[in-house]
Amino acid sequence: MIDLAIIGAGTTGIATAIEAQKLRVKNITLFEKGEEHSMTIRKFYKEGKRVDKDYKGQEVALSGNIDFKDGNKEGTLEFFDNLIANHTLEIKYKSDIESVQKNGEFFTIHTSGGESYEARFVVIAIGKMGQPNKPSYSIPLPIRSFVNFNANSVKAGEKLLIVGGGNSAVEYAYDLCNSFDTTLNYRRSEFARINEINAEELKKAIESGKLKTKLGVDIVGLSDESGKVGVEFADGSKEVFDRAIYAIGGATPLDFLQKCKLSLDESNTPVVDEHCESSIKGMFVAGDIALSSGGSIAIGLNHAHTIAQEIAKRL
Ligand SMILES: Cc1cc2nc3c(=O)[nH]c(=O)nc-3n(C[C@H](O)[C@H](O)[C@H](O)COP(=O)(O)OP(=O)(O)OC[C@H]3O[C@@H](n4cnc5c(N)ncnc54)[C@H](O)[C@@H]3O)c2cc1C
Repeated sequence: MIDLAIIGAGTTGIATAIEAQKLRVKNITLFEKGEEHSMTIRKFYKEGKRVDKDYKGQEVALSGNIDFKDGNKEGTLEFFDNLIANHTLEIKYKSDIESVQKNGEFFTIHTSGGESYEARFVVIAIGKMGQPNKPSYSIPLPIRSFVNFNANSVKAGEKLLIVGGGNSAVEYAYDLCNSFDTTLNYRRSEFARINEINAEELKKAIESGKLKTKLGVDIVGLSDESGKVGVEFADGSKEVFDRAIYAIGGATPLDFLQKCKLSLDESNTPVVDEHCESSIKGMFVAGDIALSSGGSIAIGLNHAHTIAQEIAKRL
């Protein structure tokens, strides 16, 4: 049982762990989908970029214990490297969290690799830069609006292809096959990464004949078939669909929040109270993902301090 699980080891997530540690919260784990911490800074800041504490004129008086100052990209990463080392934080890298569910008093955290963890408190600090994984082959322009990364656009009567072998793909497949002509494609023939409930639902859907499958074969390319999606498989076969939905890892921040069943306002920002606690008791939201616009490292550091104080009080 983890006392405090933090999703995302960006500057906000790291700061939350440190602030909580200072308040004697034990058993803290950070989950980071990248191979290193602070992936937004690594990927989106240019080499040598100046890093302003009061970013874009947002003046922030730091409330916590992290003495963050103006610097540059490399210096900022080194500053957080040192914080991690000095506080011996437990960070599980390459852990892409798919969803967090509350079961009774505790939370279950699901990774896209099929692992799950239990936690008393959860802080979501995933930032806003997340994107779904895309296939390596190109998607022809005329069919781009029919090649999707979630099921929000499906229309009545469509013939669908779902691509992927994780929980998300399987959930789309067994749900959609009740109302649509649906085929599930996975490059492997076994679904090793899905949870027991999904394995059971998948079996039922296939056995009932509602869900068709194309397993153990990869897709090698897509073509435009008069506005429909032509799918070419590695075994030489080809089939045309109205729409293809890829669920092959990664998610937009909005998809993530919806999967966690958080209440969102009209700008799709999580509804939080003055402690950054979401509509789900014990689940907090911090940093860029907690804001409708703007955001900065310093704002995230203050969220971290606020949340840590609240959690320490309750543990
Ligand atoms: C080009 C650019 C320049 C900027 N310049 C400045 C500046 O000078 N000063 C400043 O204060 N701010 C600046 N910002 C804004 C600043 O980068 C953000 O406010 C800050 O990074 C937010 O921190 P965060 O920890 O909330 O989110 P992020 O830094 O985005 O970190 C989120 C982390 O969560 C991980 N993650 C995402 N999804 C999952 C998942 N499902 N499972 C596990 N891990 C996940 C990501 O890999 C990432 O490491 C800039 C932003 C950009 C894009």
